[in-house]
Amino acid sequence: MQSIHARLALMPSGWQKDVSVFFENGFIKQINNEFSATARSVDILLPAPVNLHSHTFQRALSGLTEARHPTLNDSFWTWRELMYIFIAQLKPEHVGAIAEFAFMEMLETGFAAVAEFHYLHHNVDGQPYDDIAEMAGRIIHAADRSGIGLTLLPSLYMQGGCDGRDLIGGQRRFGCSLDLFENLFSKTSSHIEAGASDHKLGVAPHSLRAVTPDALAQLESICPTGPIHIHLAEQKSEVIEVLNHLGSRPAEWILNNLNVDHRWCLIHCTQMTESETKLIAKSGAIVGLCPITESNLGDGVFNGTYFLDSHGRFGIGTDSNVHISLWHELATLEYSQRLSEHRRSALASLSQSTGRTIFDNATKSGATASGRNSGEIMEGKLADFIVLSADNEYLCHRENDQILDSLIFCGRGRSCITDVWSAGRHVVVNGRHKDRDRIVQAYRTTLGQIKQTF
Ligand code: ZN
Repeated sequence: MQSIHARLALMPSGWQKDVSVFFENGFIKQINNEFSATARSVDILLPAPVNLHSHTFQRALSGLTEARHPTLNDSFWTWRELMYIFIAQLKPEHVGAIAEFAFMEMLETGFAAVAEFHYLHHNVDGQPYDDIAEMAGRIIHAADRSGIGLTLLPSLYMQGGCDGRDLIGGQRRFGCSLDLFENLFSKTSSHIEAGASDHKLGVAPHSLRAVTPDALAQLESICPTGPIHIHLAEQKSEVIEVLNHLGSRPAEWILNNLNVDHRWCLIHCTQMTESETKLIAKSGAIVGLCPITESNLGDGVFNGTYFLDSHGRFGIGTDSNVHISLWHELATLEYSQRLSEHRRSALASLSQSTGRTIFDNATKSGATASGRNSGEIMEGKLADFIVLSADNEYLCHRENDQILDSLIFCGRGRSCITDVWSAGRHVVVNGRHKDRDRIVQAYRTTLGQIKQTF
């Protein structure tokens, strides 16, 4: 049995002093306030959230798409064209090395687990690999080696738009008919079962553009219990396309046509009316926000204050992984609300500070959205922890909610996080991933094999 004694811990009831947590086989077995001589003594203990939205292969694209195109208006859609060209180079071993590097960075910033929205399935010519779940297997292997908890969401991608047009170019690596996807899902399930015991499997219809209404209706029978994630209402032109072909706006359509509940995670939702915002809040679905990527791609601003006032739930993802930082994501979210509403402490409540409110959402809703039994330091939950040092310039002389506010707005996590556990696996020690040198070397080698201009 491992044990940690924290001077201060964020518990379900709030901040508590002198907390001892005992855990075994990945789960918290006991919590009390008795000091044990064998316990690891730490300053501050937090529950570690799940990164609820990631496409790990895009990590290696970061920094390569920031130049202005001479003739086009740069946008999400021009970025997507570059991404399609980029992925033509990626072999399964590249995808594995990039995933492990991204997982390492996620752990170092405090995520204990990740929901990987996985759509890069096939060979460059669009043909499945001999093992149709080859790429999924690489991601699972990378998660196992890095020690991160994984909820894998194989993505169904059928068509190039709502009009049913064929997939072209880079999109062919994503494409599946519903029958092919069923096979892919089943093989992915076998890989998941061979991985760490806290891994989970869900499903991800890519978007209303890429999946037909008939197939959407059948996905629940392919994956009857796991989480269901979908990109929704990210771009203005996407809203218009869905409105023209399906007869209503994306959020409206999905709420009227599918059984959207707490199993669903709606990614982005940066293009919503107030009535849609209210209805999604009421549905119980989690909204998956990725503020750094949404800023990078110019998606728009989520209607966060209205959503929280409507008792909605949101979690945080790193999406394109252009910059992997839990704390920077949270700051970007709050700042987007302040800029659009011209006020401060936009997402705070009267009883909890800004940092506390958004961190609580990230931990609790991230767990729900990924189907992971985590998100709180509580007996029976997975031992997913962040340890902070109070002995640094960002957190010294700070108490309770001020700690989270300082992490998010002053320090952005740098030099504050000393240790991270994922399901009892002690993966970050003294601020570094335990296998950082090996993982970075493999990532460098991979970058050397990929063209950096295209
Ligand atoms: Zn995404």
